[in-house]
Amino acid sequence: MEPVQVVWFKRDLRLVDHQPLLQASLRGPVLPLVVVEPQLWQQADASARQWAFCAESLEELRMGLARLGQPLVVRVGSVEEVLERARRRFGIAGLWSHEETGNGWTYDRDRRVARWARSHGIPWIEIPQFGVIRRLKNRNGWARRWEEQMAVPICPAPDALQPLPEIEPGDLTTAAALQLADDPCPGRQHGGREQGLLLLESFLHQRGARYHRELSSPTTAIRSCSRLSSHLAWGTVSMREVVQASRQRRAALQQLGASERGEWLRALRGFEERLHWHCHFIQKLESQPDLEFRELHPLTIDARPADHERLAAWAEGRTGLPFVDACMRSLIATGWINFRMRAMLMSVASHHLQLPWRESGLRLARLFLDYEPGIHWSQCQMQSGTTGINTIRIYNPIKQGQDHDPRGDFLLRWLSELRTVPVVHLHEPWTMDPETQRRVGCVLGMHYPLPIVDPTEAAREARKRLWDRRRQEGFRELADGIQQKHGSRRSGLPPSGAGRHRRSRSGETGAGAGAIQLWLDLDGC
Ligand SMILES: Cc1cc2nc3c(=O)[nH]c(=O)nc-3n(C[C@H](O)[C@H](O)[C@H](O)COP(=O)(O)OP(=O)(O)OC[C@H]3O[C@@H](n4cnc5c(N)ncnc54)[C@H](O)[C@@H]3O)c2cc1C
Repeated sequence: MEPVQVVWFKRDLRLVDHQPLLQASLRGPVLPLVVVEPQLWQQADASARQWAFCAESLEELRMGLARLGQPLVVRVGSVEEVLERARRRFGIAGLWSHEETGNGWTYDRDRRVARWARSHGIPWIEIPQFGVIRRLKNRNGWARRWEEQMAVPICPAPDALQPLPEIEPGDLTTAAALQLADDPCPGRQHGGREQGLLLLESFLHQRGARYHRELSSPTTAIRSCSRLSSHLAWGTVSMREVVQASRQRRAALQQLGASERGEWLRALRGFEERLHWHCHFIQKLESQPDLEFRELHPLTIDARPADHERLAAWAEGRTGLPFVDACMRSLIATGWINFRMRAMLMSVASHHLQLPWRESGLRLARLFLDYEPGIHWSQCQMQSGTTGINTIRIYNPIKQGQDHDPRGDFLLRWLSELRTVPVVHLHEPWTMDPETQRRVGCVLGMHYPLPIVDPTEAAREARKRLWDRRRQEGFRELADGIQQKHGSRRSGLPPSGAGRHRRSRSGETGAGAGAIQLWLDLDGC
């Protein structure tokens, strides 16, 4: 038998718009391979909920490949060892995969695999699946290249795959075998492409009509946002498929009269802008892998140790700040929360509670079904004020609750212990006097925690600390370098000293005097 083309599935669990699979299938017999790596699943950012979603997606992929003629081959262990066994048994003519911008562990593993492939003279063909560019020198022209990537026609699944003789498909393992901690998540999404396509369809034709208006409140966002993030993170649908489907829908809407199409065009433009941000943020990690571990701006490094009690109170939804606790409990139960609430959770952890961003970031990573290292760590740093180039927002958790859940519908769903508290006190139960607390049967410190910090005082202190950092000598010059490397060119940012900066729509801004002014403007958000 001629040597096989190995297609290594990573976070691209689909058959359609899978160039490595299609290209490999045109060149000879294909070994479609998934390696479940116990070491990867033991990393501090992995969780059983993520495995459950991944395993469901793998089951569906396995059935799809079986229909083509060669079922998915699953092996548990290290990739190099699995590949080496395949090489000895079949001979490998080529290794095919998508490019991955993963965490530090996958980065090191890929380097080992590249060394192994080189040492055996096996070509490893990695094909981009997002608009993320390898070995990018700077961000000039990035947006244009993203557009080019997204415009590439969607490639179909291969018509058929030649069956490999006598190859055991192998069993999918379990969360327990991967030594993942128990992680109940009753409201989580189900994995698999079928679910992903259903979400895409319902978002583009029904749920998304008021996306731009309803994405900020956790009560409405759960329905009005696309909810595609986990599917994009595990690759059950491709970014290109989503971008092209949204554009096609917009083109169809443009044929309709204004009253018929309502606000759909605005909604979908906002959505597509966020699809662009997806790759914009992942590019940062691709260009600077250590941002997962280290502050982007060296003058924001804070060597405080973790406060385990505070961290646990925040991570378990018992800070005594009701809206923060409700968001956290909702996230624990569903594996998802909307962008604004993620930003608020991170901001409260880093600013009000003064927790190290890496520790709280890891807690969130494990809770997110859609954990995507490039977006996640860039956002964690951005919300913690450690990038040096972004508008810093110290979210006021009480105002967020009053603005986005004024009647407390969302809050009460997750904090039933506050159900007897009058609406006027819901977001600040400590404003109830002791007599009212007794009368309504919700005594703070007994039925619900007292706030672990005074939110106003904590925000004031955090603001001062941020200012002190930004005033350090050399801060701006370093920030200019970071802006050059990572900043969005859409914001049109000149280097420091070149005048007031405009804020881009992704919330990115330069670090010069104008940015600090702007940061002040937004301080009360
Ligand atoms: C601290 C923090 C951590 C985050 N971690 C992750 C993560 O691990 N994985 C993840 O996918 N998103 C992350 N986000 C971004 C964002 O919150 C989610 O992408 C979004 O809430 C997912 O819901 P959706 O699919 O319904 O999004 P929609 O609003 O429907 O947007 C569609 C897609 O656009 C992308 N997108 C949307 N908002 C953003 C954004 N602000 N930045 C980058 N891409 C965006 C996502 O791929 C999303 O699926 C994080 C945000 C914050 C503040």
